[in-house]
Amino acid sequence: MSTLNETHDPFLRSWVESANREDTDFPIQNLPFAVFRRQDSAEAWRGGVAIGDQIVDLAAVAARGVFSGEAGLAVQAGAQDRLNVLMAMGLVVWAALRLALSRGLREGSVQQSALQACLVPQAQAEFDVPVRVGDYTDFYVGIHHATSVGKLFRPDSPLLANYKWVPIGYHGRASTIVVSGQPFRRPQGQLMAPDAAQPVLAPTKRLDFELELGVFIGKGNAVGQPIAMSDAESHVFGLTLFNDWSARDVQAWEYQPLGPFLSKNFASTVSPWIVTMDALAPFRRPFARVDGDPDPLPYLDSPDNRAAGAIDIALEVLLQTPKMRKTGKPAQCISRSRFADAAYWTVAQMVTHHTVNGCALSSGDLLGTGTLSGARPEEAGSLLELTHGGKKPITLPNGDQRTFLEDGDIVTLTGRCHKAGFKPLGFGLCTAEVLPSVV
Ligand code: CA
Repeated sequence: MSTLNETHDPFLRSWVESANREDTDFPIQNLPFAVFRRQDSAEAWRGGVAIGDQIVDLAAVAARGVFSGEAGLAVQAGAQDRLNVLMAMGLVVWAALRLALSRGLREGSVQQSALQACLVPQAQAEFDVPVRVGDYTDFYVGIHHATSVGKLFRPDSPLLANYKWVPIGYHGRASTIVVSGQPFRRPQGQLMAPDAAQPVLAPTKRLDFELELGVFIGKGNAVGQPIAMSDAESHVFGLTLFNDWSARDVQAWEYQPLGPFLSKNFASTVSPWIVTMDALAPFRRPFARVDGDPDPLPYLDSPDNRAAGAIDIALEVLLQTPKMRKTGKPAQCISRSRFADAAYWTVAQMVTHHTVNGCALSSGDLLGTGTLSGARPEEAGSLLELTHGGKKPITLPNGDQRTFLEDGDIVTLTGRCHKAGFKPLGFGLCTAEVLPSVV
């Protein structure tokens, strides 16, 4: 588990002035990673690190030989078109790069002029999925989401008997993980109306978002070698915002008996930025169960997990309809929740459970947390919950109503960490527009 060090000092200031603003997601204490190039250019994709409204171009840092030792090796790996090699290098190398960047970007650094020449404004950049995602698994750790969705189907026993013992998950597809900013078409699928004799193939009428976080695996494990709780977080590079778009009508018809299939794998959007576990060290919270709930089985328990297994991240969902856009109205927040309150299982427990049978994880694998709804209705992380299964539309300030998403809607996820005595930081934006179906 990451520990506090000089890179978390809240009084650090950067010579990149925009990084010192109170409202920036990217102060010098954050230093998240992305893959980028200049917009509309034929430049090679390469890794970059956010600082204020700028990106430190890791290919430029490598070419100039600004860093040496382990940080130098890390920069060379980070200069590639995907971050997998850097992410496979492990904790010690990640920490060396973070320390080198922190020292180089501080006010008064002797490396200022060398690094200044490696900056690209974020406003001029375009982004790609930051890693080659080999495998994607989606968990279901949001207990309030599981409870309220379960209630729609089984009012008397919303949570199934396994929920408090097993971190529930299923294997998704990596092929349709897309980066923030990339629109996607409303998918078609088999829809079965309650009173119909047979299903039809048609565009989904119940398109939804799912507010999730994505966990990127750094170092993998060999087949047959489970990762213990004490070691689990050393395999995690960092977290990203993740919108696991869902077609609820397709899902309702297809999900039994094997779970979701085409209702989930038409698009899942990641934010460009991966916030490292090191950056999140100040925002840890104890992992605790409410009275009466079972303790996790010993293989899912550890002293570190009890002391600080949870991570406090404030999450928001914003919606902007085409009418709002035409009339110059900003996106409206429709839900707020917190990772530590929403999740019944921690990142370490997801990693350990995933590998307990010997399943191999690889660098760049993506684990979705599942929908992170809070306990209160207005904290729901999907429209399915916010509208009580599509029965009660939500009304936006301009009078627009929604049960599910309409064409032209733009959904944006945000994440911020605050704690007294530490510099607040954020995750950037995870945003995408729903385009009309092709049919
Ligand atoms: Ca999901």
